[in-house]
Amino acid sequence: MATDTKPSPDSVMRSLYKHHAGEGLKFDAARPKPVAGPRDVIIRVKKVGICGTDRHIWQWDEWAAGRIPVGIVTGHEFVGFIEEVGSAVTKYHPGQRVSAEGHIFSGTDYNSRTGNAHIASDTSIIGIDRDGCFADFVKVPEDNVWPVHADISDRLAATFDPLGNAVHTVMSAGVSAQTVLISGVGIIGLMAVTVARAAGASRIFCSDVNPPRLALAKKLGAAEAYDARDTGWLDDIRTQTGGEGVDVLLEMSGADAAFSQGFRALRNGGRAALLGLPAKQLTFDFNEHIIFKGCTVLGINGRRVWETWYQMEKLLLSGRLDLDDIITHEYPLEEFETAFQTMISGEGIKVLMNL
Ligand code: ZN
Repeated sequence: MATDTKPSPDSVMRSLYKHHAGEGLKFDAARPKPVAGPRDVIIRVKKVGICGTDRHIWQWDEWAAGRIPVGIVTGHEFVGFIEEVGSAVTKYHPGQRVSAEGHIFSGTDYNSRTGNAHIASDTSIIGIDRDGCFADFVKVPEDNVWPVHADISDRLAATFDPLGNAVHTVMSAGVSAQTVLISGVGIIGLMAVTVARAAGASRIFCSDVNPPRLALAKKLGAAEAYDARDTGWLDDIRTQTGGEGVDVLLEMSGADAAFSQGFRALRNGGRAALLGLPAKQLTFDFNEHIIFKGCTVLGINGRRVWETWYQMEKLLLSGRLDLDDIITHEYPLEEFETAFQTMISGEGIKVLMNL
């Protein structure tokens, strides 16, 4: 679109964008709508989720300052309706209710061509590397579109991205008939509790330093929820697992101490799936926790395309996921400041905004 002519009202949209290299986001009522390339779809966004990543972008921490281009529309968790399709799009049509895989890749690298597109080397992410979904319209390639099943609500569909992280972690680790420690019960950790329960974990233990979140983890099905600052909780896990330790560790906190504690709780030969991102290099004893332990360590990035999405849909349709207590608040987009404060203060867990 030409920017030197005055935009007509139907070529502009509401958006939240990163207006400067500092804290906050700015509302813009007249940002130009995205224009579809031949293989793109334009989606009219209905509901979005605020992610921990969006909090980093809001607060403009070291990570955000090094990664986020100033000027982009942020946000990557959404559900909406297809508004318009590019000239070469064949699979979708306007009016379909959809979400999308926010990791965009060309499909030409080794991993994309061998079933591992979630770790493609040329990945760019909506709302992080390019314009995202905190706007009336978002553009994604048709290959990234995920049609939403009619029996899944907008409220749940708006959380596919983080729920997919939880499903990917749980399903990669394999929790059926296994004892599991979920280390860190933020949004995705709490989602992992209900996913692990639905996936047949025999006994779920959780640790965190946030008592209300620990109480919620118990409500969602954790057998024990430990305050990681209390001494003796690792001994208790050991006692409750016949002296061996848990079969599976799901690391969701990224906290330095949590890595050491989590691996201490893991039995020899166990499996650890790591999703939490440490803010700096860990003080971690590889000899003790990995090599001598003979454990398997899995790095978890994004969602498997599309295996995780099918698993997530089936789990949601099974009715066994309990997400009502995790999705706590909804605000109109214009009240984004309140929405972000609700999330940042910890009063809200998953906070949604409506367009
Ligand atoms: Zn997210």
